[in-house]
Amino acid sequence: VTWDREIAQLPYDQRALAERAATACSQAYARYSKFKVGAALRIKGGGVVTAANVENGSYGLTSCAERNAIFRAVAEKGTDVRWTSIALVADVEKFDPAKPPTISPCGACRQVLNEFKADDNATVLFIKDGQFVLMTIEKLLPIPFYFKPWQQQSLNDGTD
Ligand SMILES: [Zn+2]
Repeated sequence: VTWDREIAQLPYDQRALAERAATACSQAYARYSKFKVGAALRIKGGGVVTAANVENGSYGLTSCAERNAIFRAVAEKGTDVRWTSIALVADVEKFDPAKPPTISPCGACRQVLNEFKADDNATVLFIKDGQFVLMTIEKLLPIPFYFKPWQQQSLNDGTD
Protein backbone atom coordinates (compact mmCIF):
# COMPACT_ATOMS: atom_id res chain seq x y z
CA VAL A 1 0.00 0.00 0.00
CA THR A 2 1.30 3.44 -0.91
CA TRP A 3 -0.05 6.08 1.40
CA ASP A 4 -0.30 9.72 0.56
CA ARG A 5 1.09 12.47 2.74
CA GLU A 6 -2.10 12.79 4.73
CA ILE A 7 -1.90 9.35 6.29
CA ALA A 8 1.84 9.71 6.81
CA GLN A 9 1.00 12.53 9.21
CA LEU A 10 -1.28 10.36 11.33
CA PRO A 11 -0.08 8.76 14.58
CA TYR A 12 1.68 5.41 14.15
CA ASP A 13 -1.13 3.37 15.69
CA GLN A 14 -3.62 4.83 13.21
CA ARG A 15 -1.34 4.07 10.26
CA ALA A 16 -0.83 0.52 11.53
CA LEU A 17 -4.59 0.04 11.82
CA ALA A 18 -5.08 1.38 8.29
CA GLU A 19 -2.52 -1.15 7.03
CA ARG A 20 -4.55 -3.93 8.61
CA ALA A 21 -7.70 -2.55 6.95
CA ALA A 22 -5.92 -2.47 3.59
CA THR A 23 -4.99 -6.14 3.94
CA ALA A 24 -8.59 -6.97 4.83
CA CYS A 25 -9.76 -4.95 1.82
CA SER A 26 -7.98 -7.38 -0.50
CA GLN A 27 -10.26 -10.16 0.85
CA ALA A 28 -13.48 -8.34 -0.06
CA TYR A 29 -16.13 -10.21 -2.02
CA ALA A 30 -17.20 -7.38 -4.32
CA ARG A 31 -17.86 -9.13 -7.61
CA TYR A 32 -20.79 -6.85 -8.49
CA SER A 33 -19.74 -3.32 -7.59
CA LYS A 34 -15.95 -3.94 -7.60
CA PHE A 35 -15.95 -1.57 -4.64
CA LYS A 36 -13.76 -3.35 -2.09
CA VAL A 37 -13.70 -2.10 1.50
CA GLY A 38 -11.65 -3.32 4.45
CA ALA A 39 -12.16 -2.50 8.13
CA ALA A 40 -9.85 -2.97 11.10
CA LEU A 41 -11.17 -2.63 14.64
CA ARG A 42 -8.84 -2.05 17.57
CA ILE A 43 -10.32 -3.88 20.53
CA LYS A 44 -10.35 -2.42 24.04
CA GLY A 45 -7.94 -4.47 26.10
CA GLY A 46 -5.89 -5.50 23.08
CA GLY A 47 -6.09 -7.04 19.65
CA VAL A 48 -7.36 -6.12 16.21
CA VAL A 49 -10.29 -7.66 14.33
CA THR A 50 -10.55 -7.19 10.56
CA ALA A 51 -13.25 -7.78 7.96
CA ALA A 52 -14.22 -6.87 4.41
CA ASN A 53 -17.48 -6.23 2.62
CA VAL A 54 -19.34 -9.26 1.26
CA GLU A 55 -21.74 -8.67 -1.62
CA ASN A 56 -24.59 -10.81 -2.85
CA GLY A 57 -26.26 -11.31 -6.21
CA SER A 58 -29.45 -9.91 -4.71
CA TYR A 59 -27.56 -6.65 -3.96
CA GLY A 60 -29.77 -5.86 -0.96
CA LEU A 61 -28.13 -8.59 1.12
CA THR A 62 -24.67 -7.07 0.84
CA SER A 63 -22.97 -6.59 4.20
CA CYS A 64 -20.49 -3.78 4.84
CA ALA A 65 -16.94 -4.27 6.14
CA GLU A 66 -17.67 -2.27 9.31
CA ARG A 67 -20.62 -4.40 10.39
CA ASN A 68 -18.82 -7.60 9.43
CA ALA A 69 -15.93 -6.52 11.66
CA ILE A 70 -18.24 -5.85 14.61
CA PHE A 71 -20.05 -9.15 14.18
CA ARG A 72 -16.76 -11.01 13.89
CA ALA A 73 -15.49 -9.28 17.04
CA VAL A 74 -18.59 -10.37 18.98
CA ALA A 75 -18.25 -13.92 17.68
CA GLU A 76 -14.55 -14.11 18.54
CA LYS A 77 -14.40 -12.14 21.79
CA GLY A 78 -17.88 -12.22 23.29
CA THR A 79 -20.73 -9.81 23.80
CA ASP A 80 -18.76 -7.53 26.14
CA VAL A 81 -16.29 -6.70 23.37
CA ARG A 82 -15.75 -2.97 22.82
CA TRP A 83 -13.72 -1.11 20.20
CA THR A 84 -11.57 1.98 20.63
CA SER A 85 -10.65 2.71 17.01
CA ILE A 86 -11.61 1.64 13.51
CA ALA A 87 -9.85 2.22 10.19
CA LEU A 88 -11.54 1.88 6.79
CA VAL A 89 -9.80 1.47 3.48
CA ALA A 90 -11.38 1.21 0.03
CA ASP A 91 -9.79 -0.13 -3.12
CA VAL A 92 -10.52 2.74 -5.47
CA GLU A 93 -8.40 1.61 -8.43
CA LYS A 94 -11.28 1.53 -10.86
CA PHE A 95 -12.37 5.02 -9.95
CA ASP A 96 -11.10 8.34 -11.21
CA PRO A 97 -8.10 9.20 -9.01
CA ALA A 98 -9.14 12.83 -9.16
CA LYS A 99 -12.52 11.95 -7.67
CA PRO A 100 -12.02 9.21 -5.07
CA PRO A 101 -15.28 8.00 -3.60
CA THR A 102 -16.22 8.84 -0.05
CA ILE A 103 -16.13 5.80 2.19
CA SER A 104 -17.35 7.15 5.47
CA PRO A 105 -19.47 4.49 7.22
CA CYS A 106 -23.09 4.21 6.06
CA GLY A 107 -25.89 4.99 8.49
CA ALA A 108 -26.52 1.35 9.42
CA CYS A 109 -22.84 0.81 10.23
CA ARG A 110 -22.67 3.97 12.33
CA GLN A 111 -25.50 2.68 14.49
CA VAL A 112 -23.90 -0.77 14.87
CA LEU A 113 -20.50 0.77 15.62
CA ASN A 114 -22.12 2.94 18.28
CA GLU A 115 -23.52 -0.13 20.05
CA PHE A 116 -20.06 -1.54 20.72
CA LYS A 117 -17.95 1.61 21.16
CA ALA A 118 -15.67 1.74 24.21
CA ASP A 119 -16.76 5.35 24.72
CA ASP A 120 -17.72 8.47 22.77
CA ASN A 121 -14.07 9.18 21.98
CA ALA A 122 -13.62 5.99 19.96
CA THR A 123 -12.04 7.11 16.69
CA VAL A 124 -13.08 6.42 13.10
CA LEU A 125 -10.49 6.76 10.31
CA PHE A 126 -11.80 6.94 6.75
CA ILE A 127 -11.29 8.64 3.43
CA LYS A 128 -13.35 11.60 2.33
CA ASP A 129 -12.64 13.53 -0.85
CA GLY A 130 -9.21 11.95 -1.11
CA GLN A 131 -8.18 12.89 2.41
CA PHE A 132 -7.92 10.71 5.46
CA VAL A 133 -10.33 11.89 8.12
CA LEU A 134 -10.00 10.98 11.80
CA MET A 135 -13.01 11.76 13.98
CA THR A 136 -14.84 10.44 17.01
CA ILE A 137 -17.87 8.16 16.82
CA GLU A 138 -19.78 10.82 18.74
CA LYS A 139 -19.13 13.31 15.96
CA LEU A 140 -19.91 10.74 13.26
CA LEU A 141 -23.22 9.76 14.89
CA PRO A 142 -24.23 12.54 17.26
CA ILE A 143 -27.74 11.29 17.99
CA PRO A 144 -27.76 7.47 17.96
CA PHE A 145 -30.87 5.40 18.40
CA TYR A 146 -31.23 3.74 21.80
CA PHE A 147 -34.02 1.25 22.45
CA LYS A 148 -34.00 2.36 26.09
CA PRO A 149 -32.42 5.82 26.20
CA TRP A 150 -31.91 5.68 29.98
CA GLN A 151 -29.65 2.65 29.46
CA GLN A 152 -27.31 4.52 27.13
CA GLN A 153 -24.42 4.39 29.58
CA SER A 154 -24.88 0.72 30.42
CA LEU A 155 -24.25 -0.20 26.78
CA ASN A 156 -20.73 1.07 27.12
CA ASP A 157 -19.81 -0.69 30.36
CA GLY A 158 -21.47 -3.96 29.35
CA THR A 159 -24.08 -4.00 32.13
CA ASP A 160 -27.84 -4.04 31.75
ZN1 LIG B 1 -22.22 0.20 6.10
